Amino acid sequence: MSMKYPFLDLKDVNLPYMEEMIEAATRVIRSGRYIGGEEVERFEHSLAELTSTRYAVGVSNGLDALRLILKSYVELGVMNAGDEVIVPANTYIASVLAISDAGLKPVLVDVDIRTMNIDTSLIEAAITSKTKAIMTVHLYGRVAWDETLADVARRHGLKVIEDCAQAIGARSTTAGLNGSVQAGSLGDAAAFSFYPTKNVGALGDAGAVVTNDETLARTVKALTNYGSDRRYHNIYCGYNCRLDPIQAAMLSVKLPHTDEENADRFARALAYSRTISRQDIVTPLLSRSVNDNVWHQYVIRVLDGKRDLLQQRLASAGVGTDIHYATPPHRQPCYAGLPHGPLPVTERLAEEILSLPIGPGTSVKDAAEIAEIINGIEL
Ligand SMILES: *Cc1c(COP(=O)(O)O)cnc(C)c1O
Repeated sequence: MSMKYPFLDLKDVNLPYMEEMIEAATRVIRSGRYIGGEEVERFEHSLAELTSTRYAVGVSNGLDALRLILKSYVELGVMNAGDEVIVPANTYIASVLAISDAGLKPVLVDVDIRTMNIDTSLIEAAITSKTKAIMTVHLYGRVAWDETLADVARRHGLKVIEDCAQAIGARSTTAGLNGSVQAGSLGDAAAFSFYPTKNVGALGDAGAVVTNDETLARTVKALTNYGSDRRYHNIYCGYNCRLDPIQAAMLSVKLPHTDEENADRFARALAYSRTISRQDIVTPLLSRSVNDNVWHQYVIRVLDGKRDLLQQRLASAGVGTDIHYATPPHRQPCYAGLPHGPLPVTERLAEEILSLPIGPGTSVKDAAEIAEIINGIEL
């Protein structure tokens, strides 16, 4: 169905950058360098700067970025098979897949109904003698970081890994473990995704790991390249998970515009929040500061079991919507055997959440119009 207000059209996302991207692509094609090299290094340098970290390693995608952090900790002996990693239950499945793929055990912790991010007051009770890390996920672009999380991590000597796939450019109102406030530098290591729909997207799959830990960065880098630390010398049984120079070149065009793109998203979010006014809809918590949410998604809660009906009515009115995510990881067939405690908030959110259009193809005016349509719908 063709929508008057599509949820997200990727052509709109790249339109403003088209000429620069074509120029950059041409440069790569003419260079004769199609793996590694200057384009990748330039992008890594810019990303390290943007995230206030010392090291950035370009990788194949966001899932691999998370996997490689955990696999590196295993190679370095920081973690061992069977160790536990705490992760929010309301997340994209990739966060959880990365943990189980590294031979570690995901321990799902429920989320806060207001932020939809990990409920940090529940973390301490989930810690056992096997717990080695907390993976905090800045879901929907909202930074999932507070004193409670930082304090628990410090007292128990846990690594903190940030899943920044949806949160490039976000900043915390609370300083991270080393005093920094940029998402990506709050914990010990962070993973980014540049999947085309993310706030900064490539023209295919791409991702990155950032950290201040030189040993970790070196290990991640080696693992992306068959586990080799120098040509034809393999210290690890590694992978081929590199970032392509053609994607790095595309990302170098777009990365400098991160803050502008995020500011536009915030303006659309404000238009929704100021206009939507219904007893049976809860709009997302507004940020304490402009940047502690970069609004990857604008997620409302539709009460009284009326979410699916609203989604249908909106589609009939020409408004595309999506659900992030209708089935949480612990309800997926692949995790049927995963032990977990009760996750009432995550389960409730799965029934109530609805994502409204907030990407570059949606203007502030569109958002206000969509909000009026929502106000006028009979449920
Ligand atoms: C997109 C995403 C990932 C995975 O990134 P890919 O590049 O698609 O592999 C991981 N975690 C979260 C929260 C995501 O949104």
